[in-house]
Amino acid sequence: MFNKLLIANRGEIACRIIKTARRLGIATVAVYSDADRDALHVQLADEAVHIGPAPARESYLVIEKIIEAARSTGAGAIHPGYGFLSENAGFARACADNDICFVGPPTAAIEAMGSKSAAKHIMGAAGVPLVPGYHDADQSPELLRAEAEKMGYPVLLKATAGGGGKGMRQVWSGAEFDEALAAAQRESSASFGDATMLVEKYLTKPRHVEVQVFCDNHGNGIYLAERDCSVQRRHQKVIEEAPAPGMTAALREAMGNTAVQAAQAIDYRGAGTVEFLLDEDGSFYFMEMNTRLQVEHPVTEMVTGQDLVEWQLRVAAGEPLPLAQAQVTVHGHAFEARIYAEDPDNDFLPVTGNLAYLQPPAESLHVRVDTGVQQGDEISVYYDPMIAKLIVWDESRERALQRLTTALAEYRIGGTITNLDFLYNLASSGPFQRAELDTGFIERHNDLVF
Ligand code: ADP
Repeated sequence: MFNKLLIANRGEIACRIIKTARRLGIATVAVYSDADRDALHVQLADEAVHIGPAPARESYLVIEKIIEAARSTGAGAIHPGYGFLSENAGFARACADNDICFVGPPTAAIEAMGSKSAAKHIMGAAGVPLVPGYHDADQSPELLRAEAEKMGYPVLLKATAGGGGKGMRQVWSGAEFDEALAAAQRESSASFGDATMLVEKYLTKPRHVEVQVFCDNHGNGIYLAERDCSVQRRHQKVIEEAPAPGMTAALREAMGNTAVQAAQAIDYRGAGTVEFLLDEDGSFYFMEMNTRLQVEHPVTEMVTGQDLVEWQLRVAAGEPLPLAQAQVTVHGHAFEARIYAEDPDNDFLPVTGNLAYLQPPAESLHVRVDTGVQQGDEISVYYDPMIAKLIVWDESRERALQRLTTALAEYRIGGTITNLDFLYNLASSGPFQRAELDTGFIERHNDLVF
């Protein structure tokens, strides 16, 4: 195991990683921008290196600065967290070139999954089921339109380079196609510098069910059950849970085995997530693979009793997976709610402000709060306005949901507008309690949640 780990991130995930490293006796190095001088992750780490101005592209996203920070502190490994450089193949390569262990998959695996269209080609060839669609290079509008017509409306236009729900457009008829294509291409160019589109059959009532996979350097690959992330706003997850409600043992095994097959098709190592759309008839289709730790990994930790960051560090250090597939158990039910500084009354636009008062619910066996902020901290314009992830666990979905609504009601945040009331209304709504989940949930129940 390495003796020193640099965490190339900030906020709750940097704090989360530091906690596990500390438990394992690994010294930690934080990096920070001007805006984060007094941030919690800096206080928690054993050492901290200043890496530049507040804008991420001048600090957290500058590969050379991160590498230099690791070299100057003698850190043998870098954990990238999620976001920032976590899925940047150039960064993984720079780590290798400098003899630093990148806590993540091989560069080739990151590259292979970095493009949604390339990923689909690889997965299709590996026998993984795909949503019917067009994912080739020819991008003439006439051809894309002909493909859409061939598969039949509605279709979904998706940016090949996309992420975070950007560059996506539903198209319900031929009359809307040209305009939607132009809009999706514009958004994709602006966000990713690439306008390449894929066209997919749009499933009207799917669930988003994703499988946590783990592979080591010794040929082992396993899955750690699944998460249901169907409750989304603009294709962004709001509340996640594990296990997925209504899952049968047979379906879990089929999706799990397919996810491991997908990971093995790209010679994967470490933690990965294979995202599927699960259709009403029980068919499931590969959507994409995220080659990093996910924001919502804690729900999997709660039901499996495992520490996924510890697994990542062990695998990166060359150790075999701690468990074999048959030893993985799922116990109880967990939810995660993402608490944001955002204004539900103003189209959920991010808000800034000082966290003048901050009183999270008490942590226990049932309640976990992953956060990177303290009372008095600023929510600035520079980064994602997430305040905390509230994670709860109990023996059944019903009881866990009771824990969730109670903990949301107890959470006190003063000084900035938050989505706490929105999350509470959502979690206590009848349809959510009955697990009537699909990706259209929030849109359909607008009346309930406001
Ligand atoms: P991103 O990388 O931008 O997050 P994804 O491909 O992961 O994009 O899709 C995000 C969300 O969009 C999914 O969770 C799902 O809700 C919806 N989605 C994606 N593809 C389809 C599809 N073919 N039909 C219906 N919904 C889809």
